[in-house]
This record gives sequence, C-alpha cells and structure tokens, in this order.
Amino acid sequence: MYALAMLSGGCLLSHLQMKSKHVFPMRHISVPGMTVYDAIRHGIFESVKEERLEGEPLETLKWLAYEKWDQNEKSLPPFQCPHCAAEDATLPYNSETGECPGCHEELLLTDMLGFHLEMAQEAAPDSIASAYMMIHETLLLFTGVRHFWENKREMLSDCLFLKDGPLAIRAQYSKLVAPIRRFLQAAREEGIDVHIVGQEKSGAFYDHLSLIGPSAPAGHIFVPGHNYIREHIQHRPAAGAPYGKDTNYGAKVFVKINDRHQAVLNIPTGEYKSDPTATDLIGTPRIFSTLPMLLSSRYEGALFPIELANNIASLSTYPSAKVLAMFAEAHT
Ligand SMILES: [Zn+2]
Repeated sequence: MYALAMLSGGCLLSHLQMKSKHVFPMRHISVPGMTVYDAIRHGIFESVKEERLEGEPLETLKWLAYEKWDQNEKSLPPFQCPHCAAEDATLPYNSETGECPGCHEELLLTDMLGFHLEMAQEAAPDSIASAYMMIHETLLLFTGVRHFWENKREMLSDCLFLKDGPLAIRAQYSKLVAPIRRFLQAAREEGIDVHIVGQEKSGAFYDHLSLIGPSAPAGHIFVPGHNYIREHIQHRPAAGAPYGKDTNYGAKVFVKINDRHQAVLNIPTGEYKSDPTATDLIGTPRIFSTLPMLLSSRYEGALFPIELANNIASLSTYPSAKVLAMFAEAHT
C-alpha cells in the first residue's frame, strides 16, 4: 500500500491506495492438470498481470527487471530454472514468457524472483503469501513512479510517495533492489529527485526509536550507519556484509519532528551508502519541510496520507463490508 502526496508548496493533493486480493492454492488443494508448485507460479504471474489494473504491475516488473528507463537494452540476470534447476535460465529483452534454454519448459518473468525456491511440488509455505504481498506492494509503488516518469516527468519531483513499511525486499526477492537503486540514482543524476518515504511502525528500529526519541531535540534527524545499526540496534558484531546492501533501497532515518511526533522513516539514497549522511538522502530539504504538514492529529508519529489509505483498505469498511455481509448471510 502506498499514498501519494504533493510536495509543491507542501500541500496534500490526493492520496491513493491500491490493495489487491488474490487466492493461491497453498496446500490440501488440487488443481486439475497442475502441481501446486506450477499452479502458484502461474497464479503469481497472472495476478501481477492482472487485468483490473490493466497489466500495470507486470509492465512495472518488466520496467525494473530490464531497466527500461535506460536506452541500452539490458538482458535479464540469469536465474534458476523452476523445472530443471539450471542456473542460466533467462528471457529475451522485454519478454513476459519464454523457454528454458536447457529443458525448453516454459519460463515466466515472475520466475526470476525465485518464488519456486521456497516451494515443494504439492505444498507451499505461508511465507510465499507474504513474499507475494511484499513484491506486489513494491510493484504498485513503482507503477506510480513509472507513470510519472513516462508521462509527466516534469511533475515527478513534485510528488511524494509514502509507503507503509520499510523500503526493503528480503531474501531471493531482493533482485529488484539493485535495479531500483540504479533507477533512483540515474534520475537523481538527471536532476529529478524521486521522493519516496517508507515508514516503519514496528520492529527493531521502531523499538530503538522509543529508546532514543524522548531525549532527542525536536526538529532533528539521525541517520545511523552500518556500525551503529549492527551494534546498537541489531546487537550483532559490526564485521560482515554492509548493512542492507542487498535488501534495502532506503536508508533508515530517525526523525523527531516535535514533542508529539517521532518516526522511523526509510529514504532512498540512490547508490548504496554504508554510512549515509542527510545530504545523501534523496530530496531531504523538501521531504522534511513537507512532513510537518502531513502529520496525523489522531495518532502519534502517524502520517495522514498513510492513515487515510489504511482507513480505505480496512477490512471492515469499503469495499469489504459487502463481502463480510455475504459471508455472514451464508453462515447463518
Ligand atoms: Zn530448465
């Protein structure tokens, strides 16, 4: 889910929320002519291609995977074939489907993300569903960015994209992180700051904020680097891979806006920085001059556009109230 606000003059123009509903046959279900493994692979591909959104998420996946903002036609990085497990499966530029060069079975563009790496033939773990949601959210967020990039590029820098949750993609699905970073960096070099903010409302960083926030002065931000995160937030040795290099496309930022509002935000830096500074964050001055105008008066540390989007997506209100009523009728 994400919300879109207008930066120019700091006024809130509109908000959007997109939430999709899909059903996957995880286990104890048979699909005629298909294993659960293949049924889920095809289900994921079809849902990303969904007609209700006119195939926009799939277009965005192609845009990111083939780095289509770049004039050079980039080929897809090789991935593991879901049929023969060869490591050199790939698809021709801009393709949605194709065949494995080794076993000639059908490949889907969504196979590059590696959902099949955590499934058995006749059952799938629940983590598939959360991974799918994480990917779909990312694709919807960048569908908004891509729309402005392709159709109204001059307006893109005046938009603020707000995501409920971190700007991160975990495990094998993180293949999209490097292209996202390259896009944000390329846009920045072109003089177009793409303003994206993710807000974390739970987890280790949020817990740490409640520790350091009360004694922080109002109107300040703190951008922790690799060593600080490893030692004080994750409580792990600082040695090892740079924090978040493969999985995060935003740096962590603690912000104390005033005595009532403090938050953990994620803000992209474009190319990876292990110890980012405030000036590395894309669009710092405009984001922080706009934030005070987006604060919710209902909840501490909440941003109003995200609150609005959550209200609309709430299961008990539109559009699900009708579904719940039908469910209640069917069971009485
Ligand atoms: Zn194969």
